[in-house]
Amino acid sequence: MLVKPPVQAEIAIIGGSGLYNIPELKNVNEYKVYTPYGEPSDKVVVGELDGRKIAFLPRHGRGHRIPPHRINYRANIWALKALGASWVISFAAVGSLREEMRPGDFVVPDQFIDMTKGIRDFTFFEGGTVAHVSMADPFCEHLRRVILEAAKEVAGLRVHPKGTYICIEGPRFSTRAESRLWRDVFGADIIGMTLVPEVNLACEAQMCYATVAMVTDYDVWAERPVTAEEVVRVMEENTVKARSLIPLIVRRLPDKPDERMCSCCRSLETALI
Ligand SMILES: [Zn+2]
Repeated sequence: MLVKPPVQAEIAIIGGSGLYNIPELKNVNEYKVYTPYGEPSDKVVVGELDGRKIAFLPRHGRGHRIPPHRINYRANIWALKALGASWVISFAAVGSLREEMRPGDFVVPDQFIDMTKGIRDFTFFEGGTVAHVSMADPFCEHLRRVILEAAKEVAGLRVHPKGTYICIEGPRFSTRAESRLWRDVFGADIIGMTLVPEVNLACEAQMCYATVAMVTDYDVWAERPVTAEEVVRVMEENTVKARSLIPLIVRRLPDKPDERMCSCCRSLETALI
């Protein structure tokens, strides 16, 4: 049974590794949202920030319980859509495939390459109705622009305005040969395990979606071994920067996406067969 949640939130934030809560949220309540696809990664936290209603969902669940290939992406996006969110700001820890994208930098990708292996549920349209959404420009350009503007105000934050995110299946990391392939042959800039199918499901749900990719380390191509301690330290610093960035993004977002700025809310108009 699908129960309509008792609250509405205009902006959704999906937290990645290191970002499991947003202490700045006020008047917080937690909701267990039931979806046709089963349970989301956790209860959805709904609270207020700067007078705006925010829904927060940690992608891996609190305590990082769910590996990338077992995340119920459909339930997560469905739950956020059911809460009324039209904006989805997704945070994700990534590895860097480029010298100039240093640990501690943020990247707001404009493209992705999907190297997952097909065991994830990629679509809401399983038959009956068939949809082929366009992924030529997979991220909401309006939301990307707002994030980039907001990021200028975070002291000491280096941000890259473009980049190609390669999504691998995980949970293992790449071999050196794979890492060099993604970088030198595929031209990817950053690497992670969770963007797909989150991004395409958000598109099918006609939501405005963009990712803030937070670089934790260089991937193995760099032959620069890092300790777990270093990665944890960078992740903690990135989480602090993400928390400063969130209110600055929220303040700049209009109540509803503007159809003159992006076409995310019309993604199904040309997709249905
Ligand atoms: Zn949009």
